[in-house]
Amino acid sequence: MLDFHKADCKNCYKCLRVCPTKAIKIKKEQAECIAELCIDCGKCLDVCPQDAIQTISEVQNVKNAILSGKKVIVSLAPSFAGLIERDMIGKFITALNKLGFSYIEETAIGAALVGDLYREQSKKIRSNNIIATCCPSANLLIEQYYPSLIDSIMPFVTPMIAHGKMLKDRFGADSYVVFIGPCPAKKGEANDSRHQVDIDAVLTFDEIFNWINSRRIVLKELEPSEFDGIALKKGAAFPVTGGVIASFLESEEGQYEVIHADGIEECIAIFDSIEAGNVTGVCVEPNVCRGSCVGGVGFPKKEEDYFRRLKRVKGYVKNLENTVISEKNVEFDSIDFTKQFVNKYIDRRIAPKEIINVIMRKMGKHDVADELNCATCGYDTCRDKAQAVYEGMAETNMCLPHMRTKAESLSNVMFENSPNIIIIVDEEMMVKEYNPRAEETFHIRVKHMIDRPISIILDEEPFLEVLKSKINIIGRKKTYSEYDVTLIQTFSYLKEQNKVLAILTDITALEEQKEELIKAKESTINAAQKVIEKQMRVAQEIASLLGETTAETKVTLTKLKNVFIDGDV
Ligand code: SF4
Ligand code: SF4
Ligand code: SF4
Repeated sequence: MLDFHKADCKNCYKCLRVCPTKAIKIKKEQAECIAELCIDCGKCLDVCPQDAIQTISEVQNVKNAILSGKKVIVSLAPSFAGLIERDMIGKFITALNKLGFSYIEETAIGAALVGDLYREQSKKIRSNNIIATCCPSANLLIEQYYPSLIDSIMPFVTPMIAHGKMLKDRFGADSYVVFIGPCPAKKGEANDSRHQVDIDAVLTFDEIFNWINSRRIVLKELEPSEFDGIALKKGAAFPVTGGVIASFLESEEGQYEVIHADGIEECIAIFDSIEAGNVTGVCVEPNVCRGSCVGGVGFPKKEEDYFRRLKRVKGYVKNLENTVISEKNVEFDSIDFTKQFVNKYIDRRIAPKEIINVIMRKMGKHDVADELNCATCGYDTCRDKAQAVYEGMAETNMCLPHMRTKAESLSNVMFENSPNIIIIVDEEMMVKEYNPRAEETFHIRVKHMIDRPISIILDEEPFLEVLKSKINIIGRKKTYSEYDVTLIQTFSYLKEQNKVLAILTDITALEEQKEELIKAKESTINAAQKVIEKQMRVAQEIASLLGETTAETKVTLTKLKNVFIDGDV
């Protein structure tokens, strides 16, 4: 159902932090979804700051179905009323017609029928608890993580599938039924092999509005149309908290205590509680989204105000007819609306204690004090994270506090042991950092320099220049006779901190060596000059005796002298 765009993932673990089942694997610093662990809740989708997670879109499939001439039918989720003001509903239907949909009904018709099935079942049920929900993620949560509660689930399909069955029954298997709603989990549900043929495609409200906008259809400019099939009050109330139970329990005075588990945390808490035997005799309506489907993540981002959506849906429901569907639609008696929920529990490998300890050490957790349990990595505790590393779902370097400490200690080692003088000065020309090499050179201890003016030890001019121009000064040589040093100075502007970093390399020894070399060179040249002069005299005497020219000897000796003068010898 989910598509993680690896190139866009910035490795922030926000998706993992909200994922209730930790179905997201981080590998080579990229997030990916493990389908068997995922309950399609869409929480990750909602929080990813990079929009790196998307639902797999079926918009093109729907367009193709329309182009192929099929009868393309909309089953519109009852929460649609939260999307737009009441006076725009008819125009929205016209917009759907303009896109090519030929028949539009509210899914609430299926919801009302499911409510009736629940009512009949609740009279027969003998189990300790009832779980009644149209939330596919809540059902998946039970199948995958709480299989012992499967027997408590009402054994029927959800309103979307029920409505799909009704529409296919009426318009034939060749018709193409598209569910439009607020819930990405419906995409997964529609593909479930138990009822794959009933719904052909699922679009979120976000996707349908993007499509409408891309066709430049402006709702306000359209004439209103009517639904081809209108909902009843009990079905239309399904998307708000308590709407499902209210559709079949006549009163809350009966055998079961009614509990609405609103949002994923409450769902997990109530299932834990029932499984542990802490509560019994309850009729639970769990929905993984806060406020049920009205809080679904498939609403367009601009429709973020949950309470506005809730108010609109409630206002819409208030005006609908209050009739039970079984009195009106007996023709659907031949359709099988039952569903067999199955155990999909995955037994995860639990790491032996010794291996957990090895992984913990790799994460810098050497004793209990190191276990921050801060959840930055996406796991509630460091040990949960170590278990995930063991299962191949996480990497040891995801522990940000540990990585920061490691990085800090590395930069500290460099700062403390650098052969260069390192000083950082703020915009007030006060020293903020001052390393041991600086102490050694300027003979002032760090405690006497931090938050003191740089001018105590150095000329503040280059610091001011860099701060003002924001241009670095690189490799400026300067001799400080008061400290007996010659330094090559680099001043860099630190943009984020608005400070100047000075790295000063002491080249005093090099300079002294150079000086020595020059002196040695001069004395060698002088000595050579004397030798040349002496040799010249001798050569002239010999030449005059032999009658030869002294020119050749002179040239050779002069060359030798020049080598000394010009070269680095
Ligand atoms: S939320 Fe998840 S997918 Fe999105 S950038 Fe962060 S780690 Fe990647
Ligand atoms: S859809 Fe839900 S369960 Fe699946 S990966 Fe995202 S947050 Fe986790
Ligand atoms: S300390 Fe590290 S491993 Fe532990 S929870 Fe925080 S980030 Fe995760």
